[in-house]
Amino acid sequence: MRQQIAAANWKMNLTYQQGEQLLDAILKEAIELKEHQKAVFAVPYPYLIMAAQKLKDKKGYAASAQNCSDQKAGAYTGEVSAEMLKSINIHYCVVGHSERREYFSERNLSLAGKVTLCLENGITPIFCCGETLSIREVGAQEGFVETQLMESLFHFPESEIRKMVIAYEPIWAIGTGKTATVAQAQEMHAHIRKLFAGKYNQATAEHIPILYGGSVKAANAKELFHSPDVDGGLVGGASLNATEFASIIRSLK
Ligand code: PEP
Repeated sequence: MRQQIAAANWKMNLTYQQGEQLLDAILKEAIELKEHQKAVFAVPYPYLIMAAQKLKDKKGYAASAQNCSDQKAGAYTGEVSAEMLKSINIHYCVVGHSERREYFSERNLSLAGKVTLCLENGITPIFCCGETLSIREVGAQEGFVETQLMESLFHFPESEIRKMVIAYEPIWAIGTGKTATVAQAQEMHAHIRKLFAGKYNQATAEHIPILYGGSVKAANAKELFHSPDVDGGLVGGASLNATEFASIIRSLK
């Protein structure tokens, strides 16, 4: 079975101590993950070592960065490289979150650079894509997401593409409380999988986990995750509450 992933995105929330407490509370639930299931925690940079330490002996649990630089190393004050993440045993990194695209002007081409550096350092990129409300309103979401994937990912060979995780996050559903309907999510996930099948092949398309993001919570996770092409979620707000996120992990297929 394809990997199923519940990924928490803490964004710029919680103090170090609150982060520790939250992780402890989730781990206290002692949710045993099946072979194909993962629980990933994208925490702020200063908390990565602590999170990785707490999660290291827990099967299927891992810490993730929320971003990395598109440069290898050097005079880039304030940036964190993929190599630095590797050096502290981080194996996941969110790339191209819509908030990075919107507030930090991240573009498809520079995101391709980040993905390259992640892969060179043995880090699984959780690559985010998704349309704005105005794109959705004119029904242009399929083409919009296709361009994002084409410009950032479709030059990678099949062997590298198979190492990636995709997160489809309609921007109009992030942090707004508006969730895409199960049918809307499934439709876009199936479309994305079809794009991978067209560019690569069906087996590769079937292999890649595609997470849904946008106001996932305990109350809607199970229904969303049980759609055939939805392989878990990237979760912001609801990942800051231990009971909510534990329930979201339990909702994985
Ligand atoms: C996200 O951070 O990627 C996200 C989907 O946020 P929220 O769950 O709060 O909508």
